[in-house]
Amino acid sequence: MSCRHRLTSYIEVLDQNANQYNKYAICLACIELNSHSYALEKQFTNTKKCCKDHFKKCDFFKQKHGKNEAQTILNDTDSETTIRKRQRVYKKDHKYNYFDLNLNYLLII
Ligand SMILES: [Zn+2]
Repeated sequence: MSCRHRLTSYIEVLDQNANQYNKYAICLACIELNSHSYALEKQFTNTKKCCKDHFKKCDFFKQKHGKNEAQTILNDTDSETTIRKRQRVYKKDHKYNYFDLNLNYLLII
């Protein structure tokens, strides 16, 4: 089973294993703005990290989504993990409930 992450909607997962756990993936922007064979040349392992590494370097991804939007997409997946970490910390000292936590997050961004 390949892992699902938020960047999944920007890639096409290939039916070819990169390793024991993950398949290869190709970038939809590469296909759309260049060609399928070009995308295949640039294929990467379907993990969040590898997707991000590709998108960071991929000019087609930035072209397709716009530089700012592309940045937001990449940052979004970052904050996902940050929030989760923060929730765990808050839960530990029981000072905040879930609502406070969201409020906190809004204030921070
Ligand atoms: Zn690409």
